[in-house]
Amino acid sequence: MSSLVKPVIAIHGGAGTMRSKDMTEEKEKAYRHGLTLALEAGRAVLKANGSAVDAVTASVMALEDDPLFNAGRGAVYTTNRTQEMDAAIMDGRDRNAGAVAGIFGPRHPVLAARAVMEKTEHVFLAGEGANEFCREIGLEIKPAEWFYTERRMKALEQEMERRRNGGEENDPSRRHGTVGAVACDVFGHVAAATSTGGMTAKFPGRVGDSPVIGAGTWADDKTCAVSATGHGEYFIRYAAAHEIDARIRWGKETLEEAAQSVIKDLVKIGGEGGLIAVNAKGEVCLPFNSEGMYRAWMGQDGEIHTGIY
Ligand code: ASP
Repeated sequence: MSSLVKPVIAIHGGAGTMRSKDMTEEKEKAYRHGLTLALEAGRAVLKANGSAVDAVTASVMALEDDPLFNAGRGAVYTTNRTQEMDAAIMDGRDRNAGAVAGIFGPRHPVLAARAVMEKTEHVFLAGEGANEFCREIGLEIKPAEWFYTERRMKALEQEMERRRNGGEENDPSRRHGTVGAVACDVFGHVAAATSTGGMTAKFPGRVGDSPVIGAGTWADDKTCAVSATGHGEYFIRYAAAHEIDARIRWGKETLEEAAQSVIKDLVKIGGEGGLIAVNAKGEVCLPFNSEGMYRAWMGQDGEIHTGIY
């Protein structure tokens, strides 16, 4: 037992945060409460000497059930008024990974991604085939009402209206949001998971960075575990999560340097967002270039911290 390390975990509820001027004390309390519950779910796993994979799964499941965040219940809508969810999970021990894209029905898309990792010979399943796989293996399936929120439907209608009338503000940061978790367990293994509804008024069939291994999700014990959030197209084009790995592996940068550089470089090409990252030494960093990023973490001090702006 002497070689056990102090576990750490970080989660995000998306970089597509509410403008600080629209935030009320009550709303802020609700967000911080949701983040705290989700962090506690993962922390409980780690404290019981559970695996990083189980910890990130537990945290993401809690965020998927919380309608405040854009994943699972409360996911955003496509231009067809449908919800299409993407998720991925990766195990830093052996780079095992699973992902799903464009699914609808499973209460927990992260469990769908995990089942792809654990029960199939594949890494990535999409669309109807993925839905069918989820039904076949008996994942909990919920009806459309479970996922519906008036707030997200309104957001779609406002965006469609803006597009029709050429309204003033085209601000992608108001259209995205995602949830994710990264952790290092007592055995020094890392894992990452990400789950999202994507971006409001996305083209049906559009897939963002979240389920793309190396873009929005990544984990390798030798370097880092990363879960990203932001304007997914940029994170894909930049292979953002793997870029952090490469900077650590080949450029000998620290986790903090690598994560900060990627977030700064993304701004240069217009990519707004943020990410959370940990490594097997128990370092944690949570950089973002947007106005805010819903986030919570437990570093080696064992305390829970939350942040929005
Ligand atoms: N990255 C997600 C996507 O593009 C959205 C987000 O993280 O806010 O689908």
